[in-house]
Amino acid sequence: MRGKNFKIRLLIGAAIALFFVVKRCSQREENPYTGRVQTISMSSTEEIQIGIASAPQMAQQHGGLHPNTEYQAMVDNVGNKLINNSIARETPYQYEFHLLADPNTINAFALPGGQVFITFALFSKLENEDQLAGVLGHEIGHVLGRHSAERIAESDFWQGLATAGSVGADAGGLVSGIGQNTLLTNGRDDELESDDLGVKFMLKAGYNPEEMIGVMEILKAAAGPNRVPEMQSTHPDPENRIEKIRESIQKYKNAS
Ligand SMILES: [Zn+2]
Repeated sequence: MRGKNFKIRLLIGAAIALFFVVKRCSQREENPYTGRVQTISMSSTEEIQIGIASAPQMAQQHGGLHPNTEYQAMVDNVGNKLINNSIARETPYQYEFHLLADPNTINAFALPGGQVFITFALFSKLENEDQLAGVLGHEIGHVLGRHSAERIAESDFWQGLATAGSVGADAGGLVSGIGQNTLLTNGRDDELESDDLGVKFMLKAGYNPEEMIGVMEILKAAAGPNRVPEMQSTHPDPENRIEKIRESIQKYKNAS
């Protein structure tokens, strides 16, 4: 009887797996702003809603907004200049730039739909407006590249396959192992795509894209000599990113 049960379980597992593969194929769409085909399970309106709903909590985790209105205005000006001179203006996203009070964590990040954040710790390390444009351009790249939405769709998919695997042949652990690696790889690609888009936006807005490399140097110095080897990290090594940024600068300079 054990054999018969196993067959049924295998069939159910295969059916679930097929469902998720078909669902995934139907979620494939071309990003009109990057030209890249990606798996997306939510609308841009939903992305905007998620971003706006999560923004206050994000700010709170980094000591709230920075009280200096002059600095905040600087961040707004540079961010808006990047948007108004690039394809980012044509997207449905509602961009907002927030300077966070956090004096210790050197970081910048973006929520889906256009909420962009930079900590004061990173802001205060920047040497010029071009570097600020580099940081914000990179974050706008994450928004326009729909990286969070893509990550969510991917994790739904692997979750589904892991379920199918555990019903079918108790191989769920194995399948979710593959899933995690895929997620990490996507994370690395996200960073490189955002760097590339950042360079493009900088050039369009009249900023010096070489300063994106300056930003990488700052991140490299901040990480210190004990940084995690690149393969183990979800973020590509700044050195690796510098090489790719140089390629992007050449590419977009030749194109214009
Ligand atoms: Zn990034």
